Amino acid sequence: MRQGETDPIWKKRLRQKPRSEKAARIQKLLKQFDVSQWWDPDDIAAKQYKQIARLLAHAQSSIPHYAAIMGDMNPYDINSLKAGRWLDIPVLKRDTVNRLGEELLSRDIPKSHGSLGPIYTSGTTGKPVRVVRTSFALAYWSAFTTRDHIWHNRNIKGTLAAIRSSEKGVALYPDGAHHVAWGSKNGVFKTGLSTSLNVNTSIADMAEWIERTKPDYLLSLPNIIKRLAPYCIEHGFDFPFLKGISAHGEMVGEFMRQQAMEAWNTPVHDMYTSREVGYMALQCPVHDHYHVQSEGVYLEILGNDDQPCKPGDTGRVVVTTLQNYAMPLIRYQVGDYAEVGELCDCGRGMPVLNRIMGREQDILVLPTSEERWTLLGSPDVRDFMEMAPIAQYQFAHVGPDRMEIRLVVKRTLTNEEEGNITKWVQKKLGYPFVVNFTYFDNMPLSRTGKFKDFVVEF
Ligand SMILES: [Zn+2]
Repeated sequence: MRQGETDPIWKKRLRQKPRSEKAARIQKLLKQFDVSQWWDPDDIAAKQYKQIARLLAHAQSSIPHYAAIMGDMNPYDINSLKAGRWLDIPVLKRDTVNRLGEELLSRDIPKSHGSLGPIYTSGTTGKPVRVVRTSFALAYWSAFTTRDHIWHNRNIKGTLAAIRSSEKGVALYPDGAHHVAWGSKNGVFKTGLSTSLNVNTSIADMAEWIERTKPDYLLSLPNIIKRLAPYCIEHGFDFPFLKGISAHGEMVGEFMRQQAMEAWNTPVHDMYTSREVGYMALQCPVHDHYHVQSEGVYLEILGNDDQPCKPGDTGRVVVTTLQNYAMPLIRYQVGDYAEVGELCDCGRGMPVLNRIMGREQDILVLPTSEERWTLLGSPDVRDFMEMAPIAQYQFAHVGPDRMEIRLVVKRTLTNEEEGNITKWVQKKLGYPFVVNFTYFDNMPLSRTGKFKDFVVEF
């Protein structure tokens, strides 16, 4: 049975006369997506193998790096690809993309794929990566942005408020910045107005700004939502005008979803993207898990043995961009880990990711050499937050057996509270760490507004 079908308003919108030639291309893709999302998994896989074969042939004939690694391989021999030849293509790491540079650029980009544009990653977790993409690939990017609105049935005539990283001195409280549309003013469909506020605004001022400007939708980073929700509960900001919250850029945990429901009775919809790859997965219209955006990417989750993981297992995210013929990333290791899910009961055949676990740097290695995820986004973190008046926290692994708990608190903690937290941390992390506490007035965000609740510093 199909659940979360496209709303009739959106069906009508997809059929309306396009605003421009560019909009016509994106609208066409969206109409295709409206059908392909219901294909069964075998048909999706068959289509992807055909796309992969074409992409490999293009890469082999026009991109020096792939010509070298593929040799005389026949990319159209799909049976051999399926039988394991695909897994023999080496995984492409971030450092390799940087080192190879122009060697990854096609010498024969199809003219029909339009003009080229560079994209750079922010480099918050390593050296920035430079990727070149075509306007054909960019149309897919725009189509996935709109698909997210369709899946979560947003009223795009409403207003959107974004709290995000901005240039220094831009989008400052109390006014923020005003924009004539949600995205580009020449976007595929006409939207309502949007506003933005600098991510470095205090939580109290963010709450006041939202209360005063009354947006229909809020877009922000999870670290902001996580701090805003308890503040709003405590100070009675229930934002009854808010219809939805979109998160991006950091891990979304179950605890944060609960907090947003408690504070504003509003669900959080997450999207899994990266600048160099684009949209990898969007949250299912009816569940909290994610559907891989199979029309744009072939996504693998690989275990330590480099073999595909089974449902319930966690592994490295490795992505192949199917539509960018200027600089395709083939088996690119994004740097994140995700948990594979079972086929979704909403009727969509695209693969499921249960959750995005975090980046390689977020893995906690115990003195026993055992590796584990800190899972600081899981609901039991509520117990920790309720042990003392904690406004913000960061766990820093500062020595093999030492954990520093960094806190922003509303008053000085008692010895008993510190003792209880120590016991909780030891139990949560599964090791009797030596725990010490440091206190901060505030903890700064990265240049792009991100914040890590777990860091390794030794
Ligand atoms: Zn689903």
